[in-house]
Amino acid sequence: MKILLIEDEIKVSAFIKRGLENERYIVEVAQDGIKGLEMAHYPSFDLIILDLMLPGIDGFTLLRQLREAEIHTPLLILSAKDAIEDRIHGLNLGADDYLSKPFSFGELLARVRALLRRSSTQSNNTTTIKDLKINLMTHEVFKGNEQIELTAKEYALLEFFINNANRAINRITIAEHVWRYDFDPGTNFVDVYINRLRKKIKDTGENKLIHTVRGYGYILKT
Ligand code: CA
Repeated sequence: MKILLIEDEIKVSAFIKRGLENERYIVEVAQDGIKGLEMAHYPSFDLIILDLMLPGIDGFTLLRQLREAEIHTPLLILSAKDAIEDRIHGLNLGADDYLSKPFSFGELLARVRALLRRSSTQSNNTTTIKDLKINLMTHEVFKGNEQIELTAKEYALLEFFINNANRAINRITIAEHVWRYDFDPGTNFVDVYINRLRKKIKDTGENKLIHTVRGYGYILKT
């Protein structure tokens, strides 16, 4: 799962980013409203966390423009403004939830999970493909009975394949989803990461999931 964090306070954004990355979410940060709005248009984010007081474009304006552009990525407002009118205004503009600063990371995480769960098309939290079992809530991965330890990026890569199962995905799309939205395609790091993931999930033999599509990219076959 990939989260866009639009927050100008570096201390706050570093705290949230670190915490969410520990939970194996991929987090990208925009430090002003203009950059945030631009990045929010990009389809690879599963959730947006939006501060209200931002340089460039304020959070309310950003949210309004985003919803007017028919972009309905789940969005959590995070703000020092905790007046009830601000909450109502934010929710009326199309925010999905609202959390006031200061907040505990535990509460933020619970709300993030709830929003992602609500928007998820999965009917339950666990997906099983051949002998691989993935818990989409806790991000735990099992091969048979053995738990596989994946990094945040490796997990995101696997999850992206699962969400696009049986569909060939080209390298650029993979890279844009798992890494940066404006990444430079001139490297082979996608292949490097995929080989690393294959090794970790012991993706060989008759249960092999991730197949190379020559000259294009990869496909996860169920
Ligand atoms: Ca701010």
